[in-house]
Amino acid sequence: MEGTIKLILDEDRNKELVLIAMSDITDRKEVEQTIYHLAYHDSLTNFPNRVTFMNQLRTYMMDVKLTKQKFAVLFIDLDNFKYINDQLGHDSGDLVIVKAAEFIREALRDSDVAARMGGDEFIVMLKDIRDLNETISIVKNILANFQKPIVVNGKECTITCSIGVACFPEHGDTPEELIKNADSALGLVKKNQKNNYYIFNKNMEYISLERRIIENAMRKGLKENQFFLEYQPKLNIQNDELVGMEALVRWNHPDLGTIPPGKFISLAEETGLIVPLGEWILKESCRQAKEWHEKGFGKLVVSVNVSVRQLQDPNFVTQVEQILMETGLEPSCLELEVTESVFADLNSMIPILKQLRSLGLHISVDDFGTGYSSLSYIKHLPIDTLKVDGSFVKDIHTNEESKAFVKAIIHLAETIGLKVIAEGIELKEHVEALKRDGCIFGQGYYYSRPLKKEAFEEFVQNIVLT
Ligand code: C2E
Ligand code: MG
Ligand code: MG
Repeated sequence: MEGTIKLILDEDRNKELVLIAMSDITDRKEVEQTIYHLAYHDSLTNFPNRVTFMNQLRTYMMDVKLTKQKFAVLFIDLDNFKYINDQLGHDSGDLVIVKAAEFIREALRDSDVAARMGGDEFIVMLKDIRDLNETISIVKNILANFQKPIVVNGKECTITCSIGVACFPEHGDTPEELIKNADSALGLVKKNQKNNYYIFNKNMEYISLERRIIENAMRKGLKENQFFLEYQPKLNIQNDELVGMEALVRWNHPDLGTIPPGKFISLAEETGLIVPLGEWILKESCRQAKEWHEKGFGKLVVSVNVSVRQLQDPNFVTQVEQILMETGLEPSCLELEVTESVFADLNSMIPILKQLRSLGLHISVDDFGTGYSSLSYIKHLPIDTLKVDGSFVKDIHTNEESKAFVKAIIHLAETIGLKVIAEGIELKEHVEALKRDGCIFGQGYYYSRPLKKEAFEEFVQNIVLT
């Protein structure tokens, strides 16, 4: 109830009567409470939100500095959540978030606080922890809960999460520092195997700082055109005819000079930067190939490496189609190289590869023989070429196993109508062994290193002359 009291006076300013008006303000209070709840909670999971969590963490930290209690902060991130959102839609994404919140809450004690930081990130404060073992056992319970299946669109699926842990007082004495360090630990779990937890240590701080510096430098590099492509010739090794080239990206850093892709591609994949970088690579390769066609270099096929992360991008197929249209390159002169890791998730990748092939371009499996694919199911895949990994070529002339493997690949490819190309050819002996086994295509330092645009053009001129 809300009451207002009013004095009503007579002409001599003597009190005459007191007026009290009372009104029922239940509705208003309810609205206020809802607004308060909305402001301090996450509406999807009903967990406290970031603001509330930070306030509670700050207050709790002041308390424990006096009581000398220990506590831990967990930073939790769902694995591959973006993929669920993109592939199954946002409603399913929301459902998964709600389930994840339940899995987390069920593993905690009543006194612990779990909050949603936004997106697929959660943060937890484990209060009054005895020792590290107690923290670890709760973390393991969270991971275990995530093994339970979730029903999305009538189908059962599971999701995993990664957890970074920072403990008070060892890993920081401000809320911000604890969270930052839990986040660094989380970053490393993500980088390694996911579906696991790490406890923060000093080393991680440096690693995560280093990563952030490189990531920013890469963003800047992309804006300032510091990336460029080299092209490695691909030949018909039976008659030494040039058939195409593989585009390989390099980063020309203003202070550090040329940085090879091995040093930055995986970070670009983790941070998602591979999507815009990959788009540039694809565009530039197609543009260059078209330019060389017009120069009369023959119908060279350009091979472009694409990472799984790019294929998972829902716009990828449209993007490729657009680039082919814009550059005017015939689709049959474009080949996308994917690594075997693509086949770790066959169900979602096969339709994408099929769509790509329906544009008229070719798909090649890079580094073949080093990863997931087995010769038994390769025939069911929508692909055109197997690219035998250089590690088998390296000792093909001395090692019976490598020789047998390459021979088996060539034989299998022949029976199911795939092309084979050998990479990493460095010696005359490699060429001879490969030729004997019936391999037709190859690339490697023996023929040429990857070349800058001008050097590649020179290479083409020379091949025509000789
Ligand atoms: P990859 O696609 O298997 O490329 C072949 C790598 O082997 C290249 O290294 C190439 O320079 C090197 N190579 C070529 N011939 C020989 C040889 O005879 N002997 C030896 N030892 N090596 C040879 P690079 O350019 O450092 O690229 C490394 C990897 O980085 C590539 O492996 C590919 O997975 C990735 N990469 C390169 N460019 C791109 C790109 O544009 N996009 C993506 N997503 N990944 C790329
Ligand atoms: Mg490649
Ligand atoms: Mg390769």
